[in-house]
Formats: sequence, structure tokens, C-alpha cells
Amino acid sequence: MIILKIGGSILTKKDSIESEIDEGNLKRIASEIKSSIDNSKKDLVIVHGAGSFGHPPAKKYKIGEPFSKEEYPEKRIGFAKTQNAVKKLNMLICDALIKEDLPVVAIPASSFITTTNKRVSEGNLDRFNKFLEKGYIPIIYGDVVLDNELEMAVISGDQIIQYLAINLKADQVILGTDVDGVYNKNPKTHEDAVFFERFSSLDDLDTLEGTTNVDVTGGMVGKIKELLYLADLGIESKIINADIENNVYKALENEELKGTIISKN
Ligand code: ADP
Repeated sequence: MIILKIGGSILTKKDSIESEIDEGNLKRIASEIKSSIDNSKKDLVIVHGAGSFGHPPAKKYKIGEPFSKEEYPEKRIGFAKTQNAVKKLNMLICDALIKEDLPVVAIPASSFITTTNKRVSEGNLDRFNKFLEKGYIPIIYGDVVLDNELEMAVISGDQIIQYLAINLKADQVILGTDVDGVYNKNPKTHEDAVFFERFSSLDDLDTLEGTTNVDVTGGMVGKIKELLYLADLGIESKIINADIENNVYKALENEELKGTIISKN
């Protein structure tokens, strides 16, 4: 079973204030996924980020931060708005995948996951397994969920990957983002950033500078932390550049391509 995550940085114009999809990338990646499925049958789960759809409302309503009783009604509206925004993005992504004849079925995290202090503590993957058994491609995304301590929280696509990879026993975990992989510092702001083919410790980063944009879920550092945890359990993952044509296809086919493997030492 393969878990493929496509980052919000690829599917949306993440720095824009408005929710805006990157049509070109979406169409191209949908067709790369289709080509790979046609080439060799595989069980696939797709995860996507929330990008410019989810982050602005989650940030505006400070989802995940403590609040008073009086603020609860407004927080709930913030939850509803965020959930609806990411659902819209998911619908556009599903439209593109279905156009390629891919039988995707959305299983939103808000519908079955509960966190405790922002970490998944309850969830049931029977639906995932059932849909996989029947040949569907389950699709899940960065979302808002109920939280036992904080009442509500944002769950990133990256935390979802970690949870699914462990509990669905994934054989391969691929993350497509807008850089080639992990560098010792942000390659977008540092020309001299050094690329890692393998990465096994946060100590190898120069700084913990997380992200270049409005992301509320951690950027590259957040991603790496989730993946290092997986690596500790013996599950390797690979970060690749999904902005480059055919990279998603190659990764799904296990072909050689530039990227960072997150693994144990
Ligand atoms: P996505 O939306 O694809 O999940 P993010 O935008 O959250 O991805 O994170 C990817 C971004 O993290 C890159 O565009 C890059 O600018 C930034 N980044 C920060 N530090 C690093 C680093 N050390 N190595 C690679 N990318 C980094």
C-alpha cells in the first residue's frame, strides 16, 4: 500500500490571500497518478494539504489555541468555515482525479478523528480498509477536528500521513512538495542550502525556520518531525519535488529520482 501526499504548496497558490487552486499542477499530477495505476496495479491512499484554502480561516479564528466560554460560538463558526474551505479544495481535487477515471472517495479527518492536545488519539480506519479492499482510492486532507483538551484543533496532512502509515501498515510513503527535499536550511531563502539525500535527525538542520508562508501547521520542520517519528518505527518516507513533471509518476513506480529519504540512522 502506498500513501501519496501532495502538499498544499503544489495544489494551491499558497501565498495568496484568496483560496486559489493550481489547476495546471492538479491536472498534471492527476494524470501522472492515472498513468502509474494503469502501469501497475497498486493500493493507494492520497493525502493532500489544506494550502491557501484552510490556512487563512484556521489562522483567523486561531483554531487550536485556548479560548474562553464566551468565545465558543465564534470558534465553532471558525471550525465550520475551515472545514468547509478544505472540503471545497478536496472537491476540486477529487473532480480532477475522477476526470482521470480514478475511483477516489473522500474520508475527511473531521468525520472520524479526534485529537488530544493536537495529536490523534481516536480514529477508526475500518472504512479505509473496506474501500481499499474494494479497489477505491481513499483521499483525506488537512482538516479541523474535535480535540479532547482544546475542544478543536487543526490536523495537518503530515500528521495524517504519520497516523495512516502506522495504522494501515504502508509499504511506501511519498510526499510531494515544492522543493527537491530537505536542506540544512530553507532553499528558497538561502542559496547556499545543502541538500540531504538521507535525513535522520533534526540536528542536521541549521535553523528551525519552518516555512516561507502562511502555513499554520509547521512547514518543512513540522513535516520532518512527523516523518522522523515514522522512521523510528522503521517506516521510511521520501520527500520529492512534485513541481517537476513526472516526479510523482516516477516515485509511484519506485524509479530513481532526486528526493530526500527520511530514515533511521
Ligand atoms: P507543503 O505545503 O508542500 O506540505 P510546506 O510549504 O509546508 O509544504 O513546506 C515546504 C516549504 O518548506 C518549502 O517550500 C521550503 O521553502 C520550506 N523549507 C523551510 N525549511 C526548509 C528546509 N530546511 N529544507 C527544505 N525546505 C524548507
